[in-house]
Order: sequence, then C-alpha cells, then structure tokens
Amino acid sequence: MKVHLRALGCRLNEAELETWTREFAAQGHSLCRTGEGADLVVVNTCAVTDEAVRKSRQLLRRIHRANPSARLVVSGCYVSLDPATPTTLPGVDLVVANQDKARLVEIVSERFDLPLMPSIAIESDAHLLLARGRQRAFIKVQDGCRYQCTFCIVTQARGPERSRPPGEIVAEINAYHREGIQEVVLTGVHLGGYGSESGSDISDLIRSVLKETAIPRIRLGSLEPWDLPDGFWSLFETPRLMPHLHLPLQSGSDSLLRRMARRCKSDEYRRLLQTGRSALPDLNVSTDIIVGFPGETDDEWCQTMEFVEECGFGQIHIFSFSPRAGTKAAGLPNPVPEPVKRERARALADLAQRLRGETLNRHIGQQFPVLIEGRLVGEGKHWPGYTPNFLRVELASATSEDLCNRILEVEIHGINENGTLAGFLPSPAGGR
Ligand code: SF4
Repeated sequence: MKVHLRALGCRLNEAELETWTREFAAQGHSLCRTGEGADLVVVNTCAVTDEAVRKSRQLLRRIHRANPSARLVVSGCYVSLDPATPTTLPGVDLVVANQDKARLVEIVSERFDLPLMPSIAIESDAHLLLARGRQRAFIKVQDGCRYQCTFCIVTQARGPERSRPPGEIVAEINAYHREGIQEVVLTGVHLGGYGSESGSDISDLIRSVLKETAIPRIRLGSLEPWDLPDGFWSLFETPRLMPHLHLPLQSGSDSLLRRMARRCKSDEYRRLLQTGRSALPDLNVSTDIIVGFPGETDDEWCQTMEFVEECGFGQIHIFSFSPRAGTKAAGLPNPVPEPVKRERARALADLAQRLRGETLNRHIGQQFPVLIEGRLVGEGKHWPGYTPNFLRVELASATSEDLCNRILEVEIHGINENGTLAGFLPSPAGGR
C-alpha cells in the first residue's frame, strides 16, 4: 500500500506520526509525500483552538477532494473531543481516538485487512527521517495532563497522564541514532509529569537516555515551569543535554495566573530562571504568552510587560486569546476588545524582538557546535543549523562537501538581517 501521513499542531502529533511512519514501513508499505498517489491517508488532527479545528476539517476535505479513492483515517485531538462529527465528513473511513493512537497501525491493518510484507520493508529507506530532510527526531515520552489550566483543551483531549516505559524510549532513540540521527527531542503533553504514575520522574528518564544511548544531542520539548524534580539542573552538566528550555509563562500577572489556574506564579518563575541561569550560563529560555485573557486589565498587562522584560527571554511565542469551546476560560466575563488585544500583541512583539536581539548579541565572538540541517536553497553557500541553546545559525561556507547532518564547531561573527546568527568555520576546512 502507498501510505501518506499528515500531522497538524504540536510536536507530540509529529512524534506520533514518526512512529506510525516507521510501523507502516516495517510492514512493507511505501510512504508517499502527497495524498494524491496514496491508497491510504492518515491525518493526526489538532483542536487546541477553534481555528485549529477549522484547519483540521479543511485538510480532511482537501485530501478527500484530491483523492476520493484513498482510504482516509483520522486521529488526534479533534476527533477525540468530538468523535461524531468527523465521521460525517466526506471520505472519512475510520476514526482512531487519542487513547487508541498507540495501536493505530494495528487497528488500520485489521480494519482494512492490509497485507503484511515485512520482507519488502528492508528494500526502501524512504521512511527514514534523514531521507525526508529531517535531522531531529521527536520522541513521544509521555501523554496526558492532570492539570486544568482554564484556557486549555488539551488536558481534555489527551486524558490522564501516562508515560512510555524508559526501555521503549531508549530503544527508539538508539534506532534513530543507528540511522544517523544525531539529535532527539523528548516531548509530551506535560513533560514534567513523566513517571508520575510510577514514582519516577523526568530526571530519571533523562539519566537513562544519557546512560543507555550515545545520541550526541538531547533536547527537551515544552516544559511547564513546575514539577521539575530535585537535581534537574545538574543533568545539564553533560554537553549532550541542550541548554534550551521552553517554559510557558502565559502571563506575568499573578492575579491573571490565578484566573488561568496556572501552578506557577511570577515569584516561583523568577526563582526557577535564577537557579537555571546560575547553573547554566548559556541557558536560553523561550516562552508562551497569552495576550488578552478575559478580564486582563491595563495594570495586569503592565505587570506582564515588566516581568517579560525582567526575564529576558530568547524567544516569545505570542498567542492572542481566543475562547476555546469546552474550556472554563471560554465562559469568563469581560472579554478584551480586539483592538486592545492587537495593540498589546504588537507591543509585546516589539519587546520580544529587542530581547531576542540582546540574546543574539551575547553570542557574537563565541564558538558553538552546530548541527547542520541542510543547505539554504538558492544561495548554496549558507548552511542553516542550531546552536545547543537553540539559536538559529546560518553558516557561510563555500565548501563542496555536504555538511548536512554534521555537528561542526562554528564561530559566530554577527547577526544576519533575517535575525539568524552569522557563522563561519574557524578551521581551514571552510574558512572565511
Ligand atoms: S499544564 Fe499544560 S497541558 Fe496541562 S492543562 Fe495546563 S496548559 Fe494544558
């Protein structure tokens, strides 16, 4: 069978897609890059906002219109929150809810009686990440969340916390490493909740990955700024654990954080950053901020702007609040007028850009091991990649060698107009 897989939304959806890709390939099915030529299409939907739901529905319609004969399987948060509606969408043959995702390939194979041809599997490596131009693998380690932030629908869509056994995660990482992948991202819904149901924690998992794999670079996906176990920062003593953390703050105002039912208030967040930065001078922290949460006063907004300035984030993802049906926040009074939201988002974007500039400037003149992730199209002499603390670099090198997927020492000598770091190879190999 020719199988096409698509994921919308978060890294967890992407990680699940990677696992299904490998499982279909292991059964001897071939993977195709578009839906047009496929016999079977699997879509991993998103429902984090009403807009995400609209996009999920739009994609399903588009895929069916482009290839009405293909079997269409739908999974993900959209179908888990609203199992009935998708079955009414044209062309949908099967719905697999989030709680059954781990068995999706098995369920699909049984339902459509797919032929099993494992012998063919070894002939093609098209399913391999590198073959698809990817140098970083997302590894799902955990699912679900026990918290109830008032704006969040994910906790309903993904259910209670559950963690994959460390042995399974280590085996998957070793398989990727054998294929040439040099960097993995451990990802989950509530990564800090890893092991909560078995008395272990995210630090135990990271220790297992460091001990039982030789993968050169390990990143952590988005991490709620609480539930970080003791000794967490000492894990970063090894250069294999990347000093970048995405710690969603959402707001800098404690009164607003209370209305969001967030577990971390500004003081705890401040202390977390101080501890992290004293342990890791290169630590780069990025975050999420919701603009225009119901009832957000001018004063609360000022508190957010002042606190963001104090935190000095390397990057800020700005989300303009939109009520998500099914969340507590959707029913809260005093919506912030759209023009006010736009004005606040613009002001925060300006601040974010200034803080990012300051972060980039601190890296000029320094040298970092950069994982090269391809060659910039059209220019041929620039190779993009990321520093360990997740700052994008464009390496200038006229070499004829293929530098893709290599970890190279790069010296930073400036900032490009597009906001990336400008680098060159200090060694004679690529020299300025
Ligand atoms: S901790 Fe994260 S996933 Fe859990 S409810 Fe809050 S925002 Fe949602």
